[in-house]
Amino acid sequence: VQVSADEDRCVGAGSCVMSAPEVFDQDDYGTVVVRDEDPDESQWPAVAEAIAICPAAALRIVRESTP
Ligand code: SF4
Repeated sequence: VQVSADEDRCVGAGSCVMSAPEVFDQDDYGTVVVRDEDPDESQWPAVAEAIAICPAAALRIVRESTP
C-alpha cells in the first residue's frame, strides 16, 4: 500500500497531520508532506481517517497490484 498526496489540491488544513502524524507533515506553507509513503500496517486506520477527513480530497491510497 502506498500513500500519495496531491499538493496542488491541499488547502493546508492540517487535518491529516492531526490524524496520522507519523505519515503526514506540513511544510512551512502548510502544504502536506508525505513522511512515509509506505506506512506500516499499524498506521493504516490513521491513514484511512486522514483520507476521509481531508477537506480537499488531496490524499489517496495507491494499492500495489498483485501479480
Ligand atoms: S488534510 Fe488535506 S488539505 Fe489538509 S493538510 Fe492534509 S492534505 Fe492538505
